Amino acid sequence: MKLILLVLLLFAAPAQAQVRRVVLLYDERTDLPGLAVLDARLTRTLTSALPGQVEVYRETMDLSRFSSPRYPLLLKDYLRAKYEGKPIDVVITVLSPALDFMLAHGAEVFPGASIVFCGIDRRDLGARQLPAEATGVLLKREFAPTLTLALRLHPGTRRVLLVSGSSAFDHRLLEAATAEFRTAPSRPPVEYLTGLPLPALLDTLAHLPAHTVVLYSTMFADSAGRPYVPHEVVAQIARAANAPVYGFVDQYLGRGIVGGHLYSLDAHGEAAGQLALRVLAGTAASAIPPIEPAASMDMFDWRELRRWRIDERRLPAGAIVRYRSVSVWERYRPTILITAGVLLLESALIVWLLLERRVRRRAQAALRTSEARGQIAGVSLGVGFWSWDAETDRVWISEQCARLLGFDPGTEPQLGAFLAAVRPRADGPLNEAFERAIREGAPFDGEWAIGTDPSGAPRWIAGAVRTSEEKGAGRRVTGALIDVTERRAAERTVEEQRRELAHLGRVAMVGELSATLAHEINQPLGAIVTNARAAERLLGGPDADKPELRVILEDIAADGWRAAAVVQHVRGLVKKDQAEPELLSLNEVVGEVLELAQADLRHRRVGLSTRLDSPAPLVFADRIQLQQVLLNLIINACDAMTDTPSRERLLLLSTTAHEGKARIEVHDRGTGIPPDGLSSVFEPFMTTKRDGMGLGLTICRSIVTAHGGQMWAVNNPERGATFVVALPLAEQPGAAADAGRLASTG
Ligand code: ADP
Repeated sequence: MKLILLVLLLFAAPAQAQVRRVVLLYDERTDLPGLAVLDARLTRTLTSALPGQVEVYRETMDLSRFSSPRYPLLLKDYLRAKYEGKPIDVVITVLSPALDFMLAHGAEVFPGASIVFCGIDRRDLGARQLPAEATGVLLKREFAPTLTLALRLHPGTRRVLLVSGSSAFDHRLLEAATAEFRTAPSRPPVEYLTGLPLPALLDTLAHLPAHTVVLYSTMFADSAGRPYVPHEVVAQIARAANAPVYGFVDQYLGRGIVGGHLYSLDAHGEAAGQLALRVLAGTAASAIPPIEPAASMDMFDWRELRRWRIDERRLPAGAIVRYRSVSVWERYRPTILITAGVLLLESALIVWLLLERRVRRRAQAALRTSEARGQIAGVSLGVGFWSWDAETDRVWISEQCARLLGFDPGTEPQLGAFLAAVRPRADGPLNEAFERAIREGAPFDGEWAIGTDPSGAPRWIAGAVRTSEEKGAGRRVTGALIDVTERRAAERTVEEQRRELAHLGRVAMVGELSATLAHEINQPLGAIVTNARAAERLLGGPDADKPELRVILEDIAADGWRAAAVVQHVRGLVKKDQAEPELLSLNEVVGEVLELAQADLRHRRVGLSTRLDSPAPLVFADRIQLQQVLLNLIINACDAMTDTPSRERLLLLSTTAHEGKARIEVHDRGTGIPPDGLSSVFEPFMTTKRDGMGLGLTICRSIVTAHGGQMWAVNNPERGATFVVALPLAEQPGAAADAGRLASTG
């Protein structure tokens, strides 16, 4: 059983494949570029189709370069000896010298071998008698298509030069080209640049006229007989020429030609290899006629296209463009983009950070400067600063502020302790406003007492509170404080002096009025005495008339009251007590003053007229001081009318309320005031009177100014002067019950 299986396995195993042998027969060295391409393709085609089953040998004969007649014979013997015992199936001959060698010696050297030739064009093959076992691939050289292409890509071409060498092969190719161009003449016609030694040729090519195109076929030797390798020559030509160079075979591409309809030796090698494979596979060579495949393609060198500024869009459809240098950008576009993006982002970030840092540094510097200035201002002006951050509930106070409020320098007080120290306690409304400023952010400005100094005197501060709201930083309350105790003390002193002066003025005025005042008092006193005596008499009589007695007693009482009222007014004027400002009716004040002045007016025979506004204008003022002003003006008016005929002496007193001002006007028919004296009459010690002091009007104006008002004098159009006192009108609806009156006495 086992034996049968073994036998089956042996028969089932494939027979050992027969090894085929192929010789690639070259005349030239295979390291020439064109042959190298051909050789590589031939070998690859054979070995890849028959892996491990084909042995490829290579022979380079160099018959063209070594022309001794004995050499081929010795070569023949050498090869026969070499391949003895190694039957060759196919010999592939490359170029015509190799084919000729095979035709002459093939049967001897490689008996039984078929011939596959390549690298020969039809014209080259000529009339050779091919044996039955030979077949091959004909090289189809074409020249006209390249010319057409060149003219198409260079529309303004004026000259076309065909450059070629001087070897026999060069000549053969040149003839083929000439023949082809002759059949289809071009415009401009092709000129031939041959028969020059290479250096001269290169020089000529370097100085071609504009609009010239160069075609290059081959140069195996120049006119001087110097041998060259055609593809090396093409590189020199392309480098030297000042015109674009076109070629006919693809091995020139990449060596300086722009391109052309190029024959591909690679494709040629592939065709020859395939042919050899068919023969190896058993098809008799005689059964395969030589083939002539179209192996040319429109091919271009991208670098040369750019050099000669040829627009790729003008290339024929399907043209192959080689040596396209993919720019770093094209190759690494995504990487570059990503890297550039990251770099950009990073740079932007850095720039932003730098800018931000700069801005911050500037802001910090500005802040430091501003803080320093603030400190200097604070210290030199005695201003204390504080702030409260609502977010963190922290209070900051400057050193000056700490000193003002009695904190140790550098402490950070709690909000409660700070407010307790700073808030205006004694003043309810002010305290409320301060509280609102802290809690609600309302602006606050004020002046208030915060306590007493060691001597028990009140300490005063003036302060302002402002709130700022910053995005993200929350609310911040900032305040400034300044000690105004001294200023207030000074103001108080001035006020006291002013009051003292005003008092002295009143005392002087009373002195001035004393004669008439004495009369004013004496008169009721005299009447009282007379009435008292009359009453006495009535009581001493038998029939005392009671009703008459009552009348007498009533008169006595009335006179008593009259005298008492005058004394009361005089006392009011000369007393030193400080009265607080109160809401006053101007009409009332006028009435009170007239009670004092009336006797004087009568005495001086001055008529009086009053025109009092209704409702009575109200002011907030010190009653006595206002009386003093009015009395002073009345006395001055009477003085001014001393020389006025007595029947023309008239004093007009009026009160008005207009545009927020309450006015008292004292109008006389006196001397009037010289025009340049209208303002100087208010200056101290300015008097025209023999026994005057020149202080009355000065005191009056200081009183009026202290009440927030103004005072001035004008001359009347007809005669005399009018003195005007304007005070802020106090609006008290319903308080002006005092009916206005228009009275006139004369
Ligand atoms: P005195 O009465 O002591 O002179 P006043 O200050 O009261 O001081 O007055 C200053 C001066 O103003 C007076 O001397 C007088 O020349 C002038 N004067 C004041 N009132 C009038 C007036 N009604 N008409 C004209 N001149 C006046």
